[in-house]
Amino acid sequence: MRIHNLNPGDEIGASGWYVEADGSHFLLDAGLHPKLEGRACLPHFGLIPAGQLDAILISHCHYDHVAGLPVAVKQFPRARVMMSELSSHLVERVLHNSANVMKRQRDEMGILDYPLYDNQQVEELAPLIEGIRYREPKLCDFAVAEGHSGRVPQIEFYDAGHTLGAAGISLRCQSHSLFYTGDCSFQDQIILKGADFSSIKADVVIMETTRGSYDDTKTALRSREVRRLREAILEVQNRRGCVLIPSFALGRTQEILALLAEMVLDGVIPRQPIYIGGLGKIFTDLYDNLARKTTRNHPNLLLNRELNLVVQNVDKVRDTPLKSPKIFVMTAGMMNENTVAHDLAIRLCADPKHAIFFVGYADPSTPGGKMRESEMGQPFYFSTKAVDLVRHCELRQFDVTGHANRDELVRCVNEIRPRHIILGHGDPSSRQWFYDQFMSMDHPYRIH
Ligand SMILES: [Zn+2]
Ligand SMILES: [Zn+2]
Repeated sequence: MRIHNLNPGDEIGASGWYVEADGSHFLLDAGLHPKLEGRACLPHFGLIPAGQLDAILISHCHYDHVAGLPVAVKQFPRARVMMSELSSHLVERVLHNSANVMKRQRDEMGILDYPLYDNQQVEELAPLIEGIRYREPKLCDFAVAEGHSGRVPQIEFYDAGHTLGAAGISLRCQSHSLFYTGDCSFQDQIILKGADFSSIKADVVIMETTRGSYDDTKTALRSREVRRLREAILEVQNRRGCVLIPSFALGRTQEILALLAEMVLDGVIPRQPIYIGGLGKIFTDLYDNLARKTTRNHPNLLLNRELNLVVQNVDKVRDTPLKSPKIFVMTAGMMNENTVAHDLAIRLCADPKHAIFFVGYADPSTPGGKMRESEMGQPFYFSTKAVDLVRHCELRQFDVTGHANRDELVRCVNEIRPRHIILGHGDPSSRQWFYDQFMSMDHPYRIH
């Protein structure tokens, strides 16, 4: 088995792993690097020999794992495309959105490589995608060379608990077996249940290492963080302030909405309009529509039924009055310019009764990262539109991640008992922590 890491960066970037085993050729994930521009954000597809790809297997529908898929399909038209059944319902919307964002970036930022694909290509690709249920093994007879004798490669998707449709992927070939964790979460979130990776065995594990730098003994329990967030939202409502919770459109937004729905159902806060972004609304509708097909907590909780969701856009938010209490769950985790979250944050900063709550990652170089580091009352550079913004509103952070804690991941890999461990999807210091852990164990792991 030969495995190539195609990520163009050394950190969490564009996920893409080329796997060659017993004459079969697979690509695991085809993401785009969120911080690189133009063709530089693509995985190194050039390392895959021309024509040599049998299947592209996608772990989940986040940008860094799937947004390069149309480029990969164009380059390897013979390859089949497979993902979990749930992901197959989401992927088209995700790719249309990235096509639209790239088109806008070409116009606004003059990135001439963009768009790397257009909406037409996405529409042509969608019917080719094969959705496969969790824990239903699939034989890949299309992936064997003529005259091949011996075991036909078999793939299987396992619920990874990270976001709707997220999967760990196993690949069993003649001489080797591999398990790719994708992004995963072992603890239950509010809606989604934790990963189900039980009984998996493999010689090789490719694992995410996102939280290698977070000491689990010092980080708060997820349930306690959720409680803290509930209390904080209530405080802002009681002082008649507005709260902005920037969140990614797929996954985080629905988890926060579920928390708000619980608060409404418990009578803690009154039913009221909850303002969300257009893309967040699309995925929220899909979460509701797929509720019965998902292993989740609260299968009967429909976010659209329990909450009065109102879609905001950049034009509307300019004139939205902030005198009475309001809750905004806005889909731009990084608060980039020309987003509702960005423009709203500038307005909220002016008044101490308002609040901004971070519930996920914000890269330090983005406006969201700058806001998170800002000191109360001190001018700071937020964006080109607000070069010396002064924050008077409350700002807090809550650790309600969709990624596995590092100790949980180590336990999971120890149960799989591979011979080889490949550390991916994390910054160098996070990978280093996992390296040290596995090296210190009695089991003779080979770590890459
Ligand atoms: Zn993810
Ligand atoms: Zn990821």
